[in-house]
Amino acid sequence: MKKVLIANRGEIAVRVIRACRQLNLKTVAVYSTADRTALHVQLADEACCIGPAAPKQSYLNMNAIITAAKLTNADAIHPGYGFLSENAVFAQLCAEHNLTFIGPSAHVIALMGEKARARETMQAAGVPVVPGSKTEFNDQQQGLQAAIALGFPVMLKASAGGGGKGMRIISHEDQFKESFTLAQNEALHAFNDNHMYLEKYLPHPRHIEVQVFADKFGNAVALGERDCTLQQHHQKVIEEAPATILKPATRAQMFAVSVKAAQEIGYVGAGTMEFLLDDPDHFYFMEMNTRIQVEHPVTELTSGLDLVTLQLRIAAGEKLPSTINHKIAQGFALECRINARTAGKIQALHLPAGYGIRTDSALYQGYQVPPNYDSMIAKIIAFGPKRQTVIQMMLNALDETVISGPQTNLDFLMQLLAEPAFLANTTDINWLDHLTAN
Ligand code: ADP
Repeated sequence: MKKVLIANRGEIAVRVIRACRQLNLKTVAVYSTADRTALHVQLADEACCIGPAAPKQSYLNMNAIITAAKLTNADAIHPGYGFLSENAVFAQLCAEHNLTFIGPSAHVIALMGEKARARETMQAAGVPVVPGSKTEFNDQQQGLQAAIALGFPVMLKASAGGGGKGMRIISHEDQFKESFTLAQNEALHAFNDNHMYLEKYLPHPRHIEVQVFADKFGNAVALGERDCTLQQHHQKVIEEAPATILKPATRAQMFAVSVKAAQEIGYVGAGTMEFLLDDPDHFYFMEMNTRIQVEHPVTELTSGLDLVTLQLRIAAGEKLPSTINHKIAQGFALECRINARTAGKIQALHLPAGYGIRTDSALYQGYQVPPNYDSMIAKIIAFGPKRQTVIQMMLNALDETVISGPQTNLDFLMQLLAEPAFLANTTDINWLDHLTAN
């Protein structure tokens, strides 16, 4: 592996370019016409325009990206997160063009992408899953029977789901018909697939996920867990490592089942096993993300490992270093996602720094934030000895941050960090939605 094309934009494209440079790999950026002046284009060794602003015509345009890789003699593609990162067809296309896709095989991506099948696979590998329907279905009557057997409230989900689409909480038999029709139509429109399945609805769970890494030789490790309970409309807002509410025995069990499952499905690269934690002892598999995640820095800081260079080395055929073992977090890390609520030019910019503060972003003064893409423009990560200290470090960091031009969620984040329930760490995945609804 000598030259890596980065099929992404924004902070993750910059993050991957930095990792490539660390390993002396050449880099190729791709960009849409809206991103001509973007930082990732300036930092890469070469850059190729792949189409207009609309993602479908550029960052999701598989043929344009493969062509860019061929024209520049790249031999590998890093998909980042979002866009084509969990697209099995794209991973297969890379393989057919002799390009190393930096991630697991197309087969594994497809297996984990079909959620009902992923549940079955995980269950067979000994991973606890949320009690639910045995099979997927597209018939309403069949769904209703399964829901009655399971007991209300239930969570109806689209088998091909993602991004919270095609999902409904159903509390009573009377609502089943209407909710089923709405969810199924949503699934059909979003994924062109009307298969649904059911899970028991858990009222107050926390979201805990395990970072796994596996090489091409069947070795796998768990590099720590993250607590991503703080979500708004199913979108993560703040992430932490470690999950301080987790009992050591539960953590050990989560690590063990995650690693075993990764090995059984022939996983390669960075992956995340997402779980719902019902009470301090019971955890249930929700889904596996087959890519690097937005929140990977909190694990980097608490494990002392550069996860993106590790991805590159594993894709190049290296074994997991023999010194790597399961990682119990050292210290505590917190990440805040900075979102732009409006597009526009960055008039003035000061990103925080200092002891224990890291920022990952693609911002610079004068940069024009385009309206076409994800609203996350930066991540601020704080790392220190313990949760309370790190929350204060984060508050200080957010307080000194200046991003003028587009409106951001900086003030909102600062208010959130001062909430008693957040400080006491007693929240659940619905807490923030309730807080903001009032
Ligand atoms: P998607 O892939 O569409 O994001 P997920 O299956 O990951 O869907 O679920 C999204 C969110 O919905 C989870 O992070 C969690 O907050 C909530 N959720 C999912 N399943 C359940 C469940 N069985 N009970 C309660 N909440 C759930």
